[in-house]
Amino acid sequence: MKIDFKPDVFFWNKPPGHRKFTWAGDTLTLPPGTELRRYRVDEGLALFKSFAELPSREAAILDFANTHGPLTANLAFCPLSFWRDHIRLMRQMVDLRYALKEFDWKGIRENLQPFHTFDTPNARAIKEKLRKGNRLTDEELIEAAVMRLLYPATQAERNLIPEVVFDAAKKTVGLRLRHASLLDYMWHQLSRAVVENVELKSCQVCGSSFDPRRYRDDHRICSDRCRYRLYQDRIASAKEMRAKGKTPRQIAKELSAELTHVKKWIAT
Ligand SMILES: [Zn+2]
Repeated sequence: MKIDFKPDVFFWNKPPGHRKFTWAGDTLTLPPGTELRRYRVDEGLALFKSFAELPSREAAILDFANTHGPLTANLAFCPLSFWRDHIRLMRQMVDLRYALKEFDWKGIRENLQPFHTFDTPNARAIKEKLRKGNRLTDEELIEAAVMRLLYPATQAERNLIPEVVFDAAKKTVGLRLRHASLLDYMWHQLSRAVVENVELKSCQVCGSSFDPRRYRDDHRICSDRCRYRLYQDRIASAKEMRAKGKTPRQIAKELSAELTHVKKWIAT
């Protein structure tokens, strides 16, 4: 028997495209009779980073909720203030991660507090020093930063729900450890990025942060959806250039495309 463990598969719920969340006071609400649709969160998208960069305006949060779903399954548990608190916290942790990577001592100091972390002797000693306003050594700062960054994920892991699927025909056991919420999943993503030293990239089409290890050949595009959009844009540009009298050869050069491709594009 083989256990097939899928560590990063995460399904969540979001509104169907045409019926979206709105704010009723500070709570997300759906039009009556609307059901959320289950979808697989693209594990290549560094959602935690996009979340950290989200402006705290109501409209921006609403847009995120409509695109990726609410932070928690129970909408009553994620009012506007909850979103704002967690955006701020995630932003702080992303800054802390960056400061740690750069050995930016000032940035580490600034983003360490409040120092929620593991209950270990070292952590207690660091906490005590911080409380008294004593200066941490460089070693302590590094240790504190790493502990601080990994702590939220370990908290989220306490809520993991194991799901086991036995495939009798293939004689395999599929195992997923399902995160209880989108927020938990994003904390998990952050800790993965920390321990695996992922250099995130920004998509040149939509601007989303993504993990470039997901694609072998293209480190500029976040997803198949954006790849398709870029492709459509290139065809449109080629046609426009053609209409302005450019030759296929000139177009191919300007778009860094194959001449045979350009000929096909402008013929459609
Ligand atoms: Zn994109």
